[in-house]
Amino acid sequence: MRLYYHKTDGGAEYLCSSQVGGTEEGSLHSKYIVRIDGDIGKDAELLIKEIGPDEYKCSACGGIFTKGWSDEEALSEKDVIFNNISTDECAMVCEDCFLAINKAFDFIPPHLLKGFSEEVDDDTGD
Ligand SMILES: [Zn+2]
Repeated sequence: MRLYYHKTDGGAEYLCSSQVGGTEEGSLHSKYIVRIDGDIGKDAELLIKEIGPDEYKCSACGGIFTKGWSDEEALSEKDVIFNNISTDECAMVCEDCFLAINKAFDFIPPHLLKGFSEEVDDDTGD
């Protein structure tokens, strides 16, 4: 299993089983997280996150996230963005992965992206 490095603003360091969508940075939403800061001889620990009833696993990065919408709201949004595509042709992804995929394929009209955390109207490049 590949692990991705993450360091918090406070200096805590982790190796994570999934990455933040569209990056190589470790995600604290990972199923497996190994703490590696401090005294590695006694402070190291493995955290294993199970999926709760209000959570889902991102099909792209593998991270575990709390559902931000009800299933009905998510299905309604799917119909608006993807023209009533069958759920058999869909996968559930986290917001970071959704925005990274949209950036790569540019399939969502900007006015439908309102409410997501990314700036919609930046043409300044990355
Ligand atoms: Zn993801």
